Amino acid sequence: MTLLRAVKGMNDVLPDEIGRCQAVERLFAETMARAGFREVRTPTLEPTPLFVRAIGEATDVVEKEMYSFEHHGEPLTLRPEGTAGAARAYLEHAIHAKEPVTRWWYSGPMFRAERPQRGRYRQFFQLGAEVFGDPGPGCDAEVIDLLVGFLDALPVTGAAVLVNSIGGKQARERYRDALVQYLTPRSSTLSPDSQRRLSTNPLRILDSKDDKDRTAVAEAPTIHEFLDADDQAHFAALRAHLDALGTPYAVDPRLVRGLDYYTRTLFEIKGAEDKLGSGSTLVGGGRYDRMVAELGGPDVPAFGFAMGLERLLLASGVDAPGRVVDAVVVPIGAAAQSPALALGRDLRRAGIRCDIDTRGTSLKSQLRRATALGARFALILGESELREGLVQLKDLDAHSQERVTPEVALRSIPDSLRNPAGGATAPAEEAP
Ligand code: ATP
Ligand code: MG
Repeated sequence: MTLLRAVKGMNDVLPDEIGRCQAVERLFAETMARAGFREVRTPTLEPTPLFVRAIGEATDVVEKEMYSFEHHGEPLTLRPEGTAGAARAYLEHAIHAKEPVTRWWYSGPMFRAERPQRGRYRQFFQLGAEVFGDPGPGCDAEVIDLLVGFLDALPVTGAAVLVNSIGGKQARERYRDALVQYLTPRSSTLSPDSQRRLSTNPLRILDSKDDKDRTAVAEAPTIHEFLDADDQAHFAALRAHLDALGTPYAVDPRLVRGLDYYTRTLFEIKGAEDKLGSGSTLVGGGRYDRMVAELGGPDVPAFGFAMGLERLLLASGVDAPGRVVDAVVVPIGAAAQSPALALGRDLRRAGIRCDIDTRGTSLKSQLRRATALGARFALILGESELREGLVQLKDLDAHSQERVTPEVALRSIPDSLRNPAGGATAPAEEAP
């Protein structure tokens, strides 16, 4: 029989790695909650036309990265990103009629049929947020600054914020024409993909990772020459807010992003290239003032971002909690099994994380396992302990032991966990 394996580019996250994931997720949830964002959960599967309409037909994501299929004649897609679904839910539940400003965050798996490599997978997790109903540059600056604080707290060091404005629809049309005019005589120097983009989605050429394309666009006109006065004022105000906050950033006039829905503000946060390889972008986001209307709703401005959990883990020094449990109950002999189950239950009720080793193996092998689980205590129930109604409480860190009643053990373990024995490692760490 051939062994079945996971789908290429879709990874198992084993328990050893989960602690780090949870630490990041917890810090993100706390950060967002503190800023008045509430969690939203939308389906993993959405109607294909949602992404085609929201993300744009001529984008890499829609053209070649979506997992789409038909089920009973209905075109469905595993979500490649979270914003389209959030905007659909916002509209479907008429949230705009209930509150003037909506702040949502989300996390969950996203799916893109890309070539797997370091920091780039076919199933990956995103943490993201959306603000609906606030058109102002203050909103953009607040969210960018919030993210910088989040990355500092993780910590991710050496992250760089890049901002740009791509204006509104008209500015972009004017720029598009100018870019096509500039690139057409140079089209033979472009990659085959970008030669095609020249007629479908020329702005995407700026985002190409191909060296030939990068050279070709290095001297191209930038969007800034084409922005309306309103767009310019919005962008200037965003920069002034960031300056006032002391949030470090750089303006990158050639920054465009892969999804068509953006208007005005765009930003990226990049991590150190040595840790992340070519996929060095940690966070991508911006303003998408037209999306809700284009999905058939009212004119509601919006701003949002998403970041890849796996890339955050590659870039950050976040630690995993060390201990799996605080204590292990170690029954010796068949008669000790039931009392061990009862003792373990009492420990858990007292808030102590505890594993009960019911294999019926030797003391030595049970203690070896207790150590592997990082347990501070082993509670040994042997023949004599059973007879006398006692338990042997072994402190695996301090290498000490005493025979006590179960009641005394229940009282003394929590105290010891709060006050680790001299030189012993700290007890169960919570999120950083
Ligand atoms: P890239 O330019 O690296 O392809 P993108 O522009 O496609 O990124 P977005 O769609 O803006 O990225 O997604 C936001 C974030 O989600 C990225 O900055 C990255 O951290 C993460 N991300 C995107 N695609 C993947 C992937 N295939 N695997 C892992 N993380 C990803
Ligand atoms: Mg991409």
